[in-house]
Amino acid sequence: MSIEIIRDLRGLHSSIARHRNGPLNTAASLAIVPTMGAIHEAHEALVIEAKKHANIVLATIFVNPLQFGENEDLSKYPRTEAEDIKRLEEKGCDIVYIPDNKNMYPDNFDLTINVPKLSSILCGKKRKNHFQGVATVVAKLLLQSGADYAIFGEKDFQQLLIIKSLVRDLDIPCQIVPIDTIRDSEGLAISSRNQYLDSEQKKIANNINIILNDASKNFHTKEIQETINFVKDNFKKVGIKKIDYVEIRNNFTLENINNSNKSNARLFIAVYINDVRLIDNIKL
Ligand code: AMP
Repeated sequence: MSIEIIRDLRGLHSSIARHRNGPLNTAASLAIVPTMGAIHEAHEALVIEAKKHANIVLATIFVNPLQFGENEDLSKYPRTEAEDIKRLEEKGCDIVYIPDNKNMYPDNFDLTINVPKLSSILCGKKRKNHFQGVATVVAKLLLQSGADYAIFGEKDFQQLLIIKSLVRDLDIPCQIVPIDTIRDSEGLAISSRNQYLDSEQKKIANNINIILNDASKNFHTKEIQETINFVKDNFKKVGIKKIDYVEIRNNFTLENINNSNKSNARLFIAVYINDVRLIDNIKL
């Protein structure tokens, strides 16, 4: 069956109802894969994971203005709708929901969802309202769709924990399913922003994964600060001049950890290569 393309909420509700009451009239389950489009291999992996959990897969494409800061790349964000739909369909997605801004945020829209503790650190320190924007749109998408499962990538690990937290606190009956970070053949975490790297910059970026892996191998024999310094020094050595953060935090709470209890640690980094901001993380 070909993918159904839906652009407004009414259409979404009737499409989901039709799929849920399909020919076999089984208690069909629904998994949602929220994206901002520019579909790449990692999004495809999310769809493949979604299909393992549910018999209806809904992908969404919405470049959410609420999560972009003033000086960020909202207008430059790649928009490749026709190609996106094709790729989603090829992976077996049943419905793609592509609302416009007016549909998602009508004129009188006046709601912000904030998960303040988890949102104020790491990426949230510089990107002030970013996670409020993410939390608000994800809450809306989960409630609009009534999805039983929602699939998110560990590449955006902080985002994943924020979404788990909002689902728990708002009692949204949706199970959050994470997938591992998907990497290209050279180990760089796949991102729509990678296309902005020229070949020299790409070579520099390929070192990120190598350095994080090296850091994880030696983590338990070193002090936390030593591991952080190791990563920062090696970033500089390979030509990464601008580091936003290198931090080690608890894998579940994102709280700082100390040398006396180094279990459940995860290393988080954000760097700029020229103007391209790249993030990554690794379990230690
Ligand atoms: P985006 O379209 O970048 O907002 O991402 C949509 C979803 O894809 C989010 O759940 C991301 O965490 C996930 N995602 C993006 N890149 C990757 C990646 N390289 N590996 C795993 N998940 C990813």
